[in-house]
Order: sequence, then C-alpha cells, then structure tokens
Amino acid sequence: MTYPNTQLFIDDQWTDAADGRTIDVTNPADGQVIGAVAHAGIADLDRALDAAARGFEVWRDTPPAKRAKVMRAAAGLLRERAGEIARVMTLEQGKPLREANGEILAAADVIEWFADEGLRVYGRLVHHRGDPSVRQMVVKDPVGPVAAFTPWNFPVNQVVRKVSAGLAAGCSLVVKAPEETPASPAALIRAFADAGLPAGVLGLVYGDPAEISGHLIPHPVIRKVTFTGSTAVGKQLAALAGRHMKRCSMELGGHAPVIVCDDADVELALKIMGPMTFRNAGQVCISPTRFVVQNGLKDDFAQELARFAKGMTVGDGLDDATEMGPLANERRVAALTELYDDALAHGAESLAGGHRLGDAGNFWAPTVLDDVPAEARIANEEPFGPIATIRGFDRLEDAIAEANRLDYGLAAYAFTRSLANADLLTRRVETGMLWINMPPATSPEMPFGGVKDSGHGSEGGPEAMEAYLNTRAVSVKNA
Ligand code: NAD
Repeated sequence: MTYPNTQLFIDDQWTDAADGRTIDVTNPADGQVIGAVAHAGIADLDRALDAAARGFEVWRDTPPAKRAKVMRAAAGLLRERAGEIARVMTLEQGKPLREANGEILAAADVIEWFADEGLRVYGRLVHHRGDPSVRQMVVKDPVGPVAAFTPWNFPVNQVVRKVSAGLAAGCSLVVKAPEETPASPAALIRAFADAGLPAGVLGLVYGDPAEISGHLIPHPVIRKVTFTGSTAVGKQLAALAGRHMKRCSMELGGHAPVIVCDDADVELALKIMGPMTFRNAGQVCISPTRFVVQNGLKDDFAQELARFAKGMTVGDGLDDATEMGPLANERRVAALTELYDDALAHGAESLAGGHRLGDAGNFWAPTVLDDVPAEARIANEEPFGPIATIRGFDRLEDAIAEANRLDYGLAAYAFTRSLANADLLTRRVETGMLWINMPPATSPEMPFGGVKDSGHGSEGGPEAMEAYLNTRAVSVKNA
C-alpha cells in the first residue's frame, strides 16, 4: 500500500515548508524510508501563529453547540476513514493493525465526549455578602491559542485528547506532532478540517522539536502549553512556560508498579498484565513495568509471565498473526540493550527475551527480568519497551514503599481480594491513576494524568476542560 507524504497545515491550507525542507519517515518493521514530512522553519511557524490568533477570534465566539456539531462531524469522518488511517499508522509506528484501528476508533469517542462536555462549561452566580443589587458572576473563557506537543507512541490518541478538549473550550491550537509518525496525526487534523473547522483554528507543524518549542512557547500569541513526552523534556518545557508565565499541562513518563498480593486471583493478574506489558511493544506511558509480587507466589508468577512473553508472536504489524510489532525507532533498541545489560550486571535473572530479533527493523524480544535490584538502572528509569521487571516483597507496606520509591507517579496496578489491602493501596500509592484487579480503563470521562515527576494536569474528564479555560470574576452593581 502507498504511504502519503505529510505537509504542514497552516491557515486552512496543506502546504510544504517555505524553504522546501523535509524529513524522511521510515518503517520500523524494515528500516526502509517510506515517505517524508515537511520541516517547518521560523517563517512557517510565524504564519501558523498568525493564523491561530485569527482563528481564536472566530472560534471563541462560535456557540458551543456549533462547535460540537463540527467536532461530531470530524468524529464521523474519522470512523469512516479508520481502516485506511490504521494502515498508515502501522506503517510509520509499527503497532499491530488491530491496535492502530482501536486507537482511531477510541479517538472518535474522545472527540464526541469533549464535544458534549463543551456544552457544559458553565459559570455561576454568587451572592454578594452585603449588597443584594450586586450580581457576582464566575465566568469561564477559553484560555487562548495553545501550543501542543505530542509524541510518537500513540500518534493519534496523544493529539486527539489535547485538540478535543481545547476545541471544545473554544481555543485555537498549533500542534507539533511527531516527525517519526506524521501521517496518522495529519489524517486526524484533516478530519477536523474536512468537517468545517474555520481557518486558523487548528494548525499542524513538524520540524526540529527544540526549535519549534523554543519559538512557540515564549511567543505572545500562545497562552497555553501542553506536552506529552519524557519527564526530562517536560521539565525543560515547563520551565520555559514558567519563565513566560504560560499555563501548562504536562503528561510525562512513568514506571508503573504492579503489586500482586498473595491473596490475589493470580490467573486474572497474569491474564490482564501479560498482554498489557507488551502492548505497543511496551511504549506506553502507563505500561506495567515494575512487578512487586508477594514472596510466596513470586517465583511461580515470574515463570508464568516469562512463559507468556516467550509465546508472543512478534512481527510486522500488518501481519494478522502479529501480537507485538517493532520498537518505533532505532534509538529505543539501543536504550533497551543498555538497560538490559546493566540489569544483568547488577545480578538480575533473565527469564525471557533480552535481545534484538532479526536483522531488519527494530524488533526486540518480549523480556522478563526477575530479582531486579533497586540499584539497577532499569529499576529506576522508564524502560519504554517490552520489558517486565520483577521483585519480591513480604509486607504490603514494603510493596507500597517500593511503588513510591521513584519520582514517577503516573499509573499503578494492584491485585488483591482483600478490601483492607485495596483501601491501604488507594490511600498510600502516590499515583495519578490506580487500577485494582482490572486492566487500565482510560475512557475520556475519567481523568488521565500523573503526580510527582509524571507531570500535572489532566487529559480526561471535566478536569481536562478546565485546563483550557480561564476562570474570571465579574461583578455588576445595578446603578
Ligand atoms: P524524547 O524525550 O527525546 O522525546 C519525547 C517526545 O518529545 C518526542 O515526541 C520528541 O519529538 C519531543 N521532544 C523532544 N525534545 C523536545 C523539545 N525540546 N521541544 C518539544 N518537543 C520535544 O524521547 P524519545 O526518545 O522520543 O522517547 C523516549 C522517551 O520519551 C521515553 O523514555 C519516555 O519516557 C518518553 N515518552 C513518553 C511518552 C508518554 O506517553 N508520556 C510518549 C513518548 C515518549
């Protein structure tokens, strides 16, 4: 099948970069160049900013019901085009086709939920303490043009949460989508454009990430910054936003603990956590990566997880039989090799995987490491790949301490039949999201975000709308 080249989208036009620069896009399953994406320069960014400023003036005054209509039309187009966009996503990102398809259909649900939520942005009236002729109003307004930065692991999902909440609130956005996986997010933006979004409301650029963030974040047109990616980059961008007093939301890395107690339904834990660990080749910010298993069942659990890992079918995401695709880019292969070798050097035991697969593409075998000591790098750094690490524990308090040992605080999982354990975990695990006895449920109506070094702000629920709204106080006295 053909893979489309990707242009910039500025002021309602699909366009090449002013100076014609492009970046190659490769298929991670075979390392072949499959197309190119336009590389914006400063002149292109300035045009995008100018368009976003004009687009905001139109969109802020567009009634929410009308905004919702455009958004619903975009969701409809996305569903119609899902099959075609999924193939493009698999070609550029590597994930199995059914995961790509699911991501696009879920994106349509996200758009629709936020379209409706935009109708429920209410202010309120507050009684004045002394004067009944005063009307005190709490008013919610869109924050203004937004700069949004998104990564390559969920090329559509990462964009759609920001764009849907922003648009529903009445903001315009300039999106810097990932250069590695440009065509599928472009297809999402195209759905909005084809649905009748006014000119300038949504812009799309690619290029040098540091140059683009360095130009957009301080720019006076931009009023809010939203970023999904690594904690290291998030801290840099949050600092830049702070220097220019811009509102910001940060959805950053994680290293999710999975606490398995000896009273757990172990079969259920394995059934859920096996596939979750290797979904999208582990390149998921909420991937279960740090298994902390009560010592009575730890060894059996580790063997069973390793058996699952060894049984996985790894291959090109376009093949029907594939359960796990390649890593999205070559640098992840190098990163995983280093983390794995370091873990063994620290005394961890390898129960499955631990090596590259084949000569072409970025394939890495599903890997299980047992008895990983706290000193190993992988016990501290997010693997962002298909590696499960396992440690044992005796008392639940120790498992909770291990879960909280890192600065990350995005997702956590636990398996227990005890209500007392579940209550303690709920109260004590420092995490933005906790799932007990179940797989992660990340529907648009639930908050999605982290605490500690995993960032702040939410990409789901009414909280996600608040991130794109200013709250103002206006009082009027009947004169
Ligand atoms: P990275 O930190 O270099 O980049 C992560 C993302 O941020 C990329 O999309 C990149 O284009 C963007 N980026 C990098 N520098 C930027 C800058 N100065 N301004 C704006 N955007 C910038 O890491 P990587 O090698 O692409 O990915 C590996 C790491 O990234 C992982 O270890 C993981 O922690 C993190 N990551 C997290 C998520 C997530 O969902 N939270 C997604 C992808 C990557």
